[in-house]
Amino acid sequence: MNGKRGLIMGVANNHSIAWGIAQKLAGQGAELAFTYQGEALGKRVKPLAAELGSDFVIPCDVEDIASVDAAIAAIKDKWGTLDFVVHAIGFSDKNELKGLYADTSRENFSRTMVISCFSFTEIAKRAAELMSEGGSMLTLTYGGSMRIMPNYNVMGVAKAALEASVRYLAGDYGPRGIRVNAISAGPIRTLAGAGISDARAMLSWQQKNAPLRRTVTIEDVGNSALYLLSDLSSGVTGEIHYVDAGYNITSMPTLERLAK
Ligand code: NAD
Repeated sequence: MNGKRGLIMGVANNHSIAWGIAQKLAGQGAELAFTYQGEALGKRVKPLAAELGSDFVIPCDVEDIASVDAAIAAIKDKWGTLDFVVHAIGFSDKNELKGLYADTSRENFSRTMVISCFSFTEIAKRAAELMSEGGSMLTLTYGGSMRIMPNYNVMGVAKAALEASVRYLAGDYGPRGIRVNAISAGPIRTLAGAGISDARAMLSWQQKNAPLRRTVTIEDVGNSALYLLSDLSSGVTGEIHYVDAGYNITSMPTLERLAK
């Protein structure tokens, strides 16, 4: 990644998936800029960025399009161009990440969609303008987009739309040499992950039933992100790449458990 510059959006702390990705990229020589949501998180993100040799840390709340524009303008001013962008942003009211999906409110449906799905499109459109030599964009999704998962509810619907956006954006920007992909990560204990009711039970279910018999780590996701953001994946776009210890290929609980 020597000589490549990228924007990392979505570090909240050192448990964040975006942090696992940033560490791998910096370890391979990439130069990184970071965004943070609000001053409280800024205080956490700045020292983390410094650990990776970056003092390019800018505020960005994706609910406010002026804030997105300002962040992209800051990148343009300082670097002029961009090689990659990581969108690891998601939000929904935790009171609706339990119980029935059917009880989702109109207000939270819209807010979840804007923050967790449409923000990727808005960022991609702006970042593409800085990728005159081509580039790579990556977002994070979850298997609750394809199959129902208890309590994931409206986030699953937003992730399904996010995955469709990945394919449409890959179609839009492919002719310009810009690749757009997503990683569908298995459950990981993070701030956002903790907002989903019974997250602990989901982690334990995954550990017992995924082919690799474990949950995944932010390092696992970072490894695959490095591939998708580097030239190693030069022929790959529009892909939803599972980093879930194989959980998505399973249907029934493991045979050992059934035999008992
Ligand atoms: P996290 O809490 O560490 O990161 C979520 C980030 O979203 C935070 O940095 C937060 O500041 C940011 N964010 C929320 N609303 C925002 C807004 N309005 N403007 C700007 N930023 C905003 O949790 P994480 O698990 O690392 O989440 C990163 C991504 O990975 C999310 O899209 C999440 O849905 C996805 N994901 C998580 C898991 C998991 O189990 N943790 C699994 C699959 C996918």
